[in-house]
Amino acid sequence: MKEFDKQLYDLLDANKIKRGEMMKNHTTFRIGGPADYFVMPESKEEIQSVLNLCKKEKVPFYIIGNGSNLLVSDEGFKGVILQIGKGMDQISLEEDGKVRAFSGAMLSRLAQVIAEHELTGFEFASGIPGSLGGAVSMNAGAYGREIKDVIVEATVVDDHNEIKVLSKDELKLSYRKSIVQTQGYVVIEALFAFKPGKKEEILQKMNELNQKRREKQPLNFPSAGSTFKRPEGYFAGKLIEDAGLRGFRVGGAAVSNKHCGFIINEENATAKDVRELIRQVDMRVYEQFGVHLEPEIRMIGQF
Ligand SMILES: Cc1cc2nc3c(=O)[nH]c(=O)nc-3n(C[C@H](O)[C@H](O)[C@H](O)COP(=O)(O)OP(=O)(O)OC[C@H]3O[C@@H](n4cnc5c(N)ncnc54)[C@H](O)[C@@H]3O)c2cc1C
Repeated sequence: MKEFDKQLYDLLDANKIKRGEMMKNHTTFRIGGPADYFVMPESKEEIQSVLNLCKKEKVPFYIIGNGSNLLVSDEGFKGVILQIGKGMDQISLEEDGKVRAFSGAMLSRLAQVIAEHELTGFEFASGIPGSLGGAVSMNAGAYGREIKDVIVEATVVDDHNEIKVLSKDELKLSYRKSIVQTQGYVVIEALFAFKPGKKEEILQKMNELNQKRREKQPLNFPSAGSTFKRPEGYFAGKLIEDAGLRGFRVGGAAVSNKHCGFIINEENATAKDVRELIRQVDMRVYEQFGVHLEPEIRMIGQF
């Protein structure tokens, strides 16, 4: 590790590297132990060089954005976490309603900029608390729309550490899935296409959707949003509620009273509490309804 350490500091300024950084500081669940290395690259070249080094030295790595869909183990992560955010969040307007943004841009800001330019089609994403990279990887969606509906292409670093531009079809976007996720690509930037709209109407729609979120979701507790994917033909939250699990707890983790599809960090929950609650919820729902609940959240580290 010593040699790796030196090589990493040769690649990046010291202020872009933290050692032993607690991942609970970088997840909306406010859960997660230390990462050996937490690095904040600010260009595709820096990303490529860190990935290159990790691969050469066989050091595990994981890419994160805003950490809003992550459960990181209490033991943390043995390797390098690359956070793509600040410094990689530029947004620019192109012709014909096209907008280009770097993967560290937050969806809320992106939605605001798109609205300011009187373009419609991204209102659905304005309340999702993630980065563009995370949203492409997860094909994030809400209120009947998803990233797939508005993306044109994305620039990624592929598994051979090469830059590739993937079309919408090549991204293989489906329900909370993409080739980025299945192949471990890194999103650098993406291009979107929108239709002209009226700024007041766009802002009003965003306000309405965000008001709906505040009414329905337990936004006053740390969480990673919907814990489970929607099983075909069902709603996870409804199955959990019907199984009598509203408010069900393991340690400090609980099924939200407000929205049963959310597991919340009610009181100093550990990752172990959340993992066990996920297991028990799935087991009880399966016993009663014969339906398995697959986690939507991504789990990192040892469980
Ligand atoms: C209160 C709340 C509400 C939410 N509501 C919604 C919702 O309505 N719809 C929805 O879809 N999600 C929702 N989520 C979940 C989450 O916000 C989204 O999945 C979001 O897109 C994740 O983005 P992120 O930057 O936080 O990604 P992270 O959580 O940091 O990472 C998620 C996944 O994306 C990968 N990833 C991140 N950045 C990159 C990159 N640059 N290149 C390659 N891979 C990358 C990570 O490796 C990981 O696999 C909600 C979460 C919360 C806390």
